[in-house]
Amino acid sequence: MDDELKRVIRGIALFNASEHEGKTRNDSIISKVIGTKPELRSRIKDIIPLISQEVIDVNKLSVESQKEELANKYPELLVVKPKHERVGLPLLEGAEQGNVITRFPPEPNGYPHIGHAKASIIDEEYAKMYGGKLILRFDDTNPEKERLEYYAAIKVGLDWLGVKYDLVKNTSDDMEIIYKKAREILDSGHAYVCTCNKETISKNRREMLSCKCRAGDLNQNITRWNKMFDKFKPGEAIVRFRGDMNSDNTVMRDPTLLRIIDELHPIHKDKYRVWPNYDFAVSIEDSIDGITHAFRTKEYELRTELYYKLLDVLDMRKPKMMEFSRLEFEGMPVSKRVLKPLVEEGKVSGFDDPRLPTLEGLRRRGIVPEAIRKFVISLGFTKSDTLPPFETLESFNRKIIDPTSVRLFIVFEPVKLTVINNNLTEIEISNHPQNDMGKRKIKIDGNFFISGNDANTLKIGDEARLLELYNIKITKIGSEIQGEITSSNYKSDIPKIQWIPRNNPVNIEVLIPNILFINDQFNENSLEARQGITEQYYLELNVGAEIQFMRFGYCRKDSANQAIYTHK
Ligand code: ATP
Ligand code: MG
Repeated sequence: MDDELKRVIRGIALFNASEHEGKTRNDSIISKVIGTKPELRSRIKDIIPLISQEVIDVNKLSVESQKEELANKYPELLVVKPKHERVGLPLLEGAEQGNVITRFPPEPNGYPHIGHAKASIIDEEYAKMYGGKLILRFDDTNPEKERLEYYAAIKVGLDWLGVKYDLVKNTSDDMEIIYKKAREILDSGHAYVCTCNKETISKNRREMLSCKCRAGDLNQNITRWNKMFDKFKPGEAIVRFRGDMNSDNTVMRDPTLLRIIDELHPIHKDKYRVWPNYDFAVSIEDSIDGITHAFRTKEYELRTELYYKLLDVLDMRKPKMMEFSRLEFEGMPVSKRVLKPLVEEGKVSGFDDPRLPTLEGLRRRGIVPEAIRKFVISLGFTKSDTLPPFETLESFNRKIIDPTSVRLFIVFEPVKLTVINNNLTEIEISNHPQNDMGKRKIKIDGNFFISGNDANTLKIGDEARLLELYNIKITKIGSEIQGEITSSNYKSDIPKIQWIPRNNPVNIEVLIPNILFINDQFNENSLEARQGITEQYYLELNVGAEIQFMRFGYCRKDSANQAIYTHK
């Protein structure tokens, strides 16, 4: 028994050491030993000496010998297990380690947004969790809407998010396969070519009526199919699945599988004019791409019956399709239908406007990718609708950016303050209260600007502390304020005032994004611009730097004279 126990302890110690640069510790091991062998809980006193001994022995070994012993004697410990506790997503039904393939299938018809972040992060986390693969597949079979610019924007967005895919492909590159499948489904009688007009088709669907085309024979279907490639005009013929016109699921009432579109495709130009619709393309692509688990948003739920049915009649392998809730923020819609007009009408400055939930917008606003990932994972894999407040994302973001945000002074509606007995010429201030982010020097001559808000609270005789400098007593009030140093000892019970030396202030504009829609109405005051003055050091920071303006909030430097408010 003790030999076996020793073996277990040594294995755990070696493994723990391998994860911590060759050093392990008693307390890291104890809980793991008990976790592996719960029956030992009552014997904890006896096993602690064994653990201590193994910890000492293992720590004496070089990292190489530790690794070697681990690999030779404990191969079972090196098998990667699903780390679902770590990411907080539930295990996937039917998933096997090493055999999971997920996909992120955006249509290149717009800029990526927070919803795409959710989908792609979940896709990637599952691929990672199971040591599998993620495929980025551009679902580009509607040339009316797709543009080359969007393929690139989506890749840039994923790169920024840190979502790594193993393969990238376009559905449109598989058109020959899709045509082959279309022929198969027509040949087997599971689809037909319908030449009814749009209105008739909709009416029949509503009223559960079949049309004459449905009764057409194979010969008619194949002749019409061939004519779709040249003779028919767009809208004159579509391929429809022979579903069930009486189904309660309206999706199943002979849905469209392929249609004619004469628009130039961003990649294939005029090579194809018969294009699969979403359902036909996604079933075939998921199956041939080897996808094991496919995820999409809940509003597609009714289409899942069609997804499986198509794969059934085509006799193709079926991935597991699962749905999760759509993500968007309150008052910040992601729909292209809503965002595109805002950009076109100039109500926002572009798709990177910091008020928008696009990845570009969030980036400019100072939201970092790690925060988005944590936030998305915290929401989990649920179907219940999520309309989380933006503040939830902000609180993840704050924790991440706080340790690296430079603290700077900022002053709004500046008022002059003169300290008549100033005795300093220069001070040095730390850029961060805890972390070593360097220091900055500021020249002092007793002439300052302070914020109008602070100035308004001061009365003659009041004492206040000029942050990092000294305490002053107010001796004169008016359009200019005068004060006198009382002491430099820190006092906690007097107002703290930030300041900017009057000799060369840096003028900046701070853009403050507010909620974009209030009750579905565009908020005309969704972007506030405040003029402020800050320290010279601002000019030394890189564009993109996060700053915490003292007593104001976190902001991202957007340019030499503009910062964007991130959050409190
Ligand atoms: P649109 O109506 O704007 O075309 P879509 O859902 O079709 O929206 P795609 O670009 O085709 O957008 O989506 C790619 C993937 O991202 C899909 O799997 C989709 O389910 C997912 N996705 C899109 N929007 C959201 C969202 N708001 N929340 C979560 N996932 C989303
Ligand atoms: Mg779409």
